[in-house]
Amino acid sequence: MFLIKLRRRKALVTGLFVNCVLALLASSTLLGVDEDFKVAHVARALQPGEVILISVDAERPLKELTATSRDRNFPFYSEGGSAHWVGLVGIDLDTPPGEVQILLSGKDLDGETVELKYQVTVLDKQFPTRHLSVDWKYVSPPQDELDRIARESRRVSRIFATTTPERFWRGPFLRPVPGKTGSGFGKRSVYNGKPRSPHTGTDLRAAKGTPVKAPNNGRVVLVKDLYFAGNTVIIDHGLGLYSYFAHLSEFRVEEGEVVETGQVIGLVGATGRVTGPHLHWTVRLSEARVDPLSLMKVLETAGGS
Ligand SMILES: [Zn+2]
Repeated sequence: MFLIKLRRRKALVTGLFVNCVLALLASSTLLGVDEDFKVAHVARALQPGEVILISVDAERPLKELTATSRDRNFPFYSEGGSAHWVGLVGIDLDTPPGEVQILLSGKDLDGETVELKYQVTVLDKQFPTRHLSVDWKYVSPPQDELDRIARESRRVSRIFATTTPERFWRGPFLRPVPGKTGSGFGKRSVYNGKPRSPHTGTDLRAAKGTPVKAPNNGRVVLVKDLYFAGNTVIIDHGLGLYSYFAHLSEFRVEEGEVVETGQVIGLVGATGRVTGPHLHWTVRLSEARVDPLSLMKVLETAGGS
Protein backbone atom coordinates (compact mmCIF):
# COMPACT_ATOMS: atom_id res chain seq x y z
CA MET A 1 0.00 0.00 0.00
CA PHE A 2 2.81 2.33 0.92
CA LEU A 3 4.58 1.61 -2.37
CA ILE A 4 1.48 2.28 -4.38
CA LYS A 5 1.02 5.63 -2.66
CA LEU A 6 4.63 6.53 -3.27
CA ARG A 7 4.33 5.76 -6.97
CA ARG A 8 1.18 7.82 -7.26
CA ARG A 9 2.90 10.77 -5.67
CA LYS A 10 5.85 10.45 -8.02
CA ALA A 11 3.62 10.33 -11.09
CA LEU A 12 1.83 13.47 -9.98
CA VAL A 13 5.05 15.38 -9.42
CA THR A 14 6.28 14.38 -12.87
CA GLY A 15 3.03 15.55 -14.35
CA LEU A 16 3.21 18.89 -12.62
CA PHE A 17 6.80 19.39 -13.68
CA VAL A 18 6.02 18.74 -17.33
CA ASN A 19 2.98 20.96 -17.03
CA CYS A 20 5.17 23.81 -15.79
CA VAL A 21 7.50 23.35 -18.73
CA LEU A 22 4.56 23.39 -21.07
CA ALA A 23 3.07 26.45 -19.42
CA LEU A 24 6.13 28.37 -20.54
CA LEU A 25 6.25 26.87 -24.00
CA ALA A 26 2.61 26.51 -24.86
CA SER A 27 0.65 28.80 -22.51
CA SER A 28 -1.30 25.92 -21.04
CA THR A 29 -3.65 27.10 -18.33
CA LEU A 30 -4.25 25.23 -15.13
CA LEU A 31 -7.76 26.01 -13.96
CA GLY A 32 -8.30 22.86 -11.99
CA VAL A 33 -6.72 23.67 -8.65
CA ASP A 34 -9.29 24.27 -5.96
CA GLU A 35 -9.83 22.90 -2.48
CA ASP A 36 -11.10 19.53 -3.72
CA PHE A 37 -8.97 18.70 -6.74
CA LYS A 38 -5.46 18.76 -8.03
CA VAL A 39 -5.25 18.40 -11.78
CA ALA A 40 -2.08 18.03 -13.83
CA HIS A 41 -1.29 16.97 -17.34
CA VAL A 42 1.56 15.48 -19.33
CA ALA A 43 1.84 16.20 -23.06
CA ARG A 44 4.60 16.15 -25.66
CA ALA A 45 3.08 19.33 -27.11
CA LEU A 46 -0.34 20.96 -27.16
CA GLN A 47 -1.02 20.70 -30.85
CA PRO A 48 -3.36 18.83 -33.21
CA GLY A 49 -2.68 15.08 -33.13
CA GLU A 50 -1.26 15.00 -29.60
CA VAL A 51 -2.32 12.89 -26.61
CA ILE A 52 -2.67 14.55 -23.18
CA LEU A 53 -2.50 12.45 -20.02
CA ILE A 54 -4.52 14.11 -17.27
CA SER A 55 -4.29 13.10 -13.64
CA VAL A 56 -6.83 14.15 -11.06
CA ASP A 57 -6.44 13.91 -7.30
CA ALA A 58 -9.73 14.42 -5.55
CA GLU A 59 -10.07 14.92 -1.82
CA ARG A 60 -12.89 12.43 -1.68
CA PRO A 61 -13.16 9.11 -3.55
CA LEU A 62 -15.06 9.08 -6.82
CA LYS A 63 -17.10 6.31 -8.43
CA GLU A 64 -16.45 7.46 -11.98
CA LEU A 65 -14.83 10.26 -13.96
CA THR A 66 -15.00 11.20 -17.65
CA ALA A 67 -13.46 14.03 -19.64
CA THR A 68 -15.51 15.62 -22.40
CA SER A 69 -13.84 17.79 -24.99
CA ARG A 70 -15.04 18.89 -28.42
CA ASP A 71 -17.96 16.41 -28.28
CA ARG A 72 -15.78 13.41 -27.47
CA ASN A 73 -15.91 11.47 -24.20
CA PHE A 74 -12.68 10.15 -22.72
CA PRO A 75 -13.31 7.73 -19.82
CA PHE A 76 -10.83 8.02 -16.93
CA TYR A 77 -9.56 5.14 -14.83
CA SER A 78 -8.65 4.87 -11.22
CA GLU A 79 -5.45 3.35 -10.01
CA GLY A 80 -4.36 2.55 -6.50
CA GLY A 81 -7.32 4.26 -4.89
CA SER A 82 -10.49 5.84 -6.09
CA ALA A 83 -9.47 9.41 -5.22
CA HIS A 84 -6.73 9.33 -7.89
CA TRP A 85 -7.87 9.19 -11.52
CA VAL A 86 -6.00 9.21 -14.80
CA GLY A 87 -7.20 9.57 -18.36
CA LEU A 88 -5.99 10.08 -21.90
CA VAL A 89 -7.49 12.90 -23.96
CA GLY A 90 -6.85 13.23 -27.70
CA ILE A 91 -6.46 16.51 -29.60
CA ASP A 92 -7.81 15.53 -33.01
CA LEU A 93 -5.75 16.27 -36.11
CA ASP A 94 -8.25 18.91 -37.28
CA THR A 95 -8.47 20.88 -34.00
CA PRO A 96 -8.12 24.60 -34.76
CA PRO A 97 -5.65 26.58 -32.63
CA GLY A 98 -7.04 28.28 -29.52
CA GLU A 99 -8.53 27.47 -26.14
CA VAL A 100 -9.83 23.92 -25.73
CA GLN A 101 -12.15 23.21 -22.82
CA ILE A 102 -11.96 19.85 -21.09
CA LEU A 103 -14.89 19.19 -18.78
CA LEU A 104 -14.12 16.64 -16.09
CA SER A 105 -17.29 15.22 -14.65
CA GLY A 106 -17.94 12.33 -12.34
CA LYS A 107 -19.83 11.08 -9.35
CA ASP A 108 -18.72 10.68 -5.76
CA LEU A 109 -19.63 7.66 -3.65
CA ASP A 110 -22.97 9.25 -2.67
CA GLY A 111 -23.83 9.64 -6.34
CA GLU A 112 -23.39 13.39 -6.29
CA THR A 113 -22.07 14.98 -9.46
CA VAL A 114 -18.66 16.61 -9.38
CA GLU A 115 -17.51 18.84 -12.20
CA LEU A 116 -14.33 20.61 -13.01
CA LYS A 117 -13.26 22.65 -16.02
CA TYR A 118 -9.75 22.34 -17.34
CA GLN A 119 -8.43 24.37 -20.22
CA VAL A 120 -5.47 24.07 -22.54
CA THR A 121 -4.30 26.30 -25.36
CA VAL A 122 -3.77 24.37 -28.57
CA LEU A 123 -1.11 25.83 -30.84
CA ASP A 124 -1.20 25.88 -34.61
CA LYS A 125 0.67 23.17 -36.47
CA GLN A 126 1.45 23.20 -40.14
CA PHE A 127 1.69 19.71 -41.59
CA PRO A 128 3.87 19.29 -44.67
CA THR A 129 2.56 17.81 -47.90
CA ARG A 130 3.90 14.55 -49.29
CA HIS A 131 3.76 13.54 -52.94
CA LEU A 132 3.55 9.83 -53.67
CA SER A 133 3.31 7.74 -56.81
CA VAL A 134 1.18 4.61 -56.54
CA ASP A 135 -0.77 2.26 -58.78
CA TRP A 136 -3.66 4.27 -60.31
CA LYS A 137 -6.22 1.81 -58.90
CA TYR A 138 -5.47 3.34 -55.48
CA VAL A 139 -6.03 6.90 -56.73
CA SER A 140 -9.17 6.38 -58.81
CA PRO A 141 -10.52 2.96 -57.79
CA PRO A 142 -12.53 1.04 -60.38
CA GLN A 143 -16.32 1.34 -60.14
CA ASP A 144 -16.80 -2.27 -59.06
CA GLU A 145 -14.59 -1.74 -55.97
CA LEU A 146 -16.50 1.30 -54.65
CA ASP A 147 -19.04 -0.76 -52.67
CA ARG A 148 -16.27 -2.74 -51.02
CA ILE A 149 -14.37 0.43 -50.13
CA ALA A 150 -17.49 2.04 -48.59
CA ARG A 151 -18.29 -1.14 -46.64
CA GLU A 152 -14.76 -1.37 -45.24
CA SER A 153 -14.75 2.29 -44.31
CA ARG A 154 -18.05 1.89 -42.40
CA ARG A 155 -16.78 -1.18 -40.56
CA VAL A 156 -13.56 0.52 -39.44
CA SER A 157 -15.49 3.67 -38.39
CA ARG A 158 -17.89 1.55 -36.33
CA ILE A 159 -14.98 -0.11 -34.54
CA PHE A 160 -13.35 3.23 -33.67
CA ALA A 161 -16.72 4.59 -32.45
CA THR A 162 -17.06 1.74 -29.93
CA THR A 163 -15.75 2.35 -26.42
CA THR A 164 -15.02 -0.84 -24.49
CA PRO A 165 -15.59 0.09 -20.83
CA GLU A 166 -12.65 -2.02 -19.65
CA ARG A 167 -9.01 -0.90 -19.82
CA PHE A 168 -6.76 -3.61 -21.30
CA TRP A 169 -3.53 -1.64 -21.72
CA ARG A 170 -0.94 -1.46 -18.96
CA GLY A 171 2.24 0.57 -18.82
CA PRO A 172 3.89 2.35 -21.73
CA PHE A 173 3.30 1.39 -25.37
CA LEU A 174 6.14 -0.53 -27.04
CA ARG A 175 7.38 0.28 -30.49
CA PRO A 176 5.91 -2.50 -32.70
CA VAL A 177 9.02 -2.88 -34.92
CA PRO A 178 12.72 -2.16 -34.15
CA GLY A 179 14.20 1.23 -35.01
CA LYS A 180 14.07 4.73 -33.67
CA THR A 181 12.28 7.02 -36.09
CA GLY A 182 8.74 7.31 -37.29
CA SER A 183 7.34 9.87 -39.62
CA GLY A 184 4.52 11.26 -41.58
CA PHE A 185 1.71 11.80 -39.06
CA GLY A 186 -0.73 14.44 -40.30
CA LYS A 187 1.00 14.99 -43.62
CA ARG A 188 -1.28 16.15 -46.39
CA SER A 189 -1.11 13.45 -49.06
CA VAL A 190 -1.06 13.87 -52.82
CA TYR A 191 -1.18 10.63 -54.78
CA ASN A 192 -0.21 10.82 -58.46
CA GLY A 193 -0.92 14.56 -58.30
CA LYS A 194 -4.39 14.15 -56.71
CA PRO A 195 -4.98 15.41 -53.12
CA ARG A 196 -6.36 12.73 -50.80
CA SER A 197 -7.17 12.60 -47.06
CA PRO A 198 -4.30 13.36 -44.65
CA HIS A 199 -2.05 10.68 -43.27
CA THR A 200 -3.48 9.76 -39.86
CA GLY A 201 -0.79 7.34 -38.71
CA THR A 202 2.95 7.12 -38.48
CA ASP A 203 5.08 5.11 -40.89
CA LEU A 204 7.80 2.99 -39.33
CA ARG A 205 10.68 1.80 -41.48
CA ALA A 206 11.01 -1.98 -41.53
CA ALA A 207 11.95 -4.64 -44.03
CA LYS A 208 9.35 -7.02 -45.44
CA GLY A 209 8.84 -9.96 -43.08
CA THR A 210 9.79 -8.08 -39.88
CA PRO A 211 7.59 -9.32 -37.01
CA VAL A 212 5.06 -6.71 -35.82
CA LYS A 213 4.53 -6.78 -32.07
CA ALA A 214 1.41 -5.70 -30.20
CA PRO A 215 2.42 -2.40 -28.54
CA ASN A 216 0.24 -3.22 -25.55
CA ASN A 217 -2.43 -5.62 -24.31
CA GLY A 218 -5.75 -5.74 -26.08
CA ARG A 219 -8.28 -7.70 -28.06
CA VAL A 220 -7.97 -8.17 -31.83
CA VAL A 221 -11.16 -6.80 -33.39
CA LEU A 222 -10.28 -6.86 -37.09
CA VAL A 223 -8.05 -9.07 -39.26
CA LYS A 224 -8.79 -8.29 -42.90
CA ASP A 225 -7.45 -7.39 -46.31
CA LEU A 226 -8.72 -3.82 -46.86
CA TYR A 227 -8.65 -2.12 -50.26
CA PHE A 228 -6.39 0.82 -49.35
CA ALA A 229 -4.72 -0.41 -46.16
CA GLY A 230 -3.98 -3.94 -47.39
CA ASN A 231 -3.71 -6.62 -44.71
CA THR A 232 -4.83 -4.88 -41.54
CA VAL A 233 -5.04 -5.75 -37.85
CA ILE A 234 -6.93 -3.60 -35.34
CA ILE A 235 -6.34 -4.04 -31.60
CA ASP A 236 -8.82 -2.68 -29.05
CA HIS A 237 -6.81 -1.54 -26.01
CA GLY A 238 -10.00 -0.59 -24.14
CA LEU A 239 -11.53 2.74 -23.05
CA GLY A 240 -11.79 3.94 -26.66
CA LEU A 241 -8.09 3.42 -27.49
CA TYR A 242 -7.23 1.47 -30.69
CA SER A 243 -4.12 0.50 -32.69
CA TYR A 244 -4.45 -0.14 -36.43
CA PHE A 245 -1.63 -1.77 -38.40
CA ALA A 246 -1.69 -1.71 -42.19
CA HIS A 247 0.12 -3.16 -45.23
CA LEU A 248 1.09 -6.45 -43.50
CA SER A 249 2.37 -9.35 -45.60
CA GLU A 250 1.01 -11.98 -43.21
CA PHE A 251 -1.30 -12.26 -40.20
CA ARG A 252 -0.33 -14.02 -36.96
CA VAL A 253 -3.60 -13.45 -35.04
CA GLU A 254 -7.31 -14.02 -35.47
CA GLU A 255 -10.31 -11.81 -34.76
CA GLY A 256 -11.40 -12.10 -31.15
CA GLU A 257 -7.97 -13.13 -29.89
CA VAL A 258 -6.64 -11.52 -26.71
CA VAL A 259 -3.05 -10.34 -27.22
CA GLU A 260 -0.37 -9.32 -24.78
CA THR A 261 2.29 -6.65 -25.08
CA GLY A 262 5.05 -7.87 -27.40
CA GLN A 263 3.05 -10.69 -28.99
CA VAL A 264 3.63 -10.98 -32.76
CA ILE A 265 0.44 -10.06 -34.64
CA GLY A 266 1.73 -10.17 -38.21
CA LEU A 267 4.66 -9.45 -40.53
CA VAL A 268 5.60 -6.19 -42.26
CA GLY A 269 4.63 -6.06 -45.92
CA ALA A 270 3.66 -3.84 -48.82
CA THR A 271 -0.02 -4.69 -49.38
CA GLY A 272 -2.53 -1.99 -50.35
CA ARG A 273 -1.71 1.63 -51.29
CA VAL A 274 2.04 1.81 -50.68
CA THR A 275 5.27 2.74 -52.41
CA GLY A 276 7.23 0.02 -50.59
CA PRO A 277 7.33 -2.16 -47.46
CA HIS A 278 6.87 -0.36 -44.12
CA LEU A 279 4.59 -0.54 -41.10
CA HIS A 280 1.74 1.95 -40.93
CA TRP A 281 0.46 2.45 -37.35
CA THR A 282 -2.64 4.47 -36.62
CA VAL A 283 -3.91 5.21 -33.10
CA ARG A 284 -7.46 6.38 -32.37
CA LEU A 285 -8.58 7.64 -28.99
CA SER A 286 -12.36 8.07 -28.71
CA GLU A 287 -12.21 8.60 -32.49
CA ALA A 288 -9.66 11.43 -32.21
CA ARG A 289 -6.86 10.98 -34.72
CA VAL A 290 -3.63 11.13 -32.73
CA ASP A 291 0.05 10.38 -33.35
CA PRO A 292 1.14 6.96 -31.99
CA LEU A 293 4.53 8.47 -31.12
CA SER A 294 2.76 11.03 -28.92
CA LEU A 295 0.93 8.23 -27.07
CA MET A 296 4.22 6.38 -26.53
CA LYS A 297 5.98 9.49 -25.22
CA VAL A 298 3.20 10.57 -22.85
CA LEU A 299 2.85 7.16 -21.19
CA GLU A 300 6.63 6.81 -20.91
CA THR A 301 6.90 10.26 -19.26
CA ALA A 302 4.06 9.54 -16.86
CA GLY A 303 5.66 6.29 -15.74
CA GLY A 304 3.35 4.05 -17.66
CA SER A 305 0.10 4.61 -15.79
ZN1 LIG B 1 1.15 5.26 -43.60
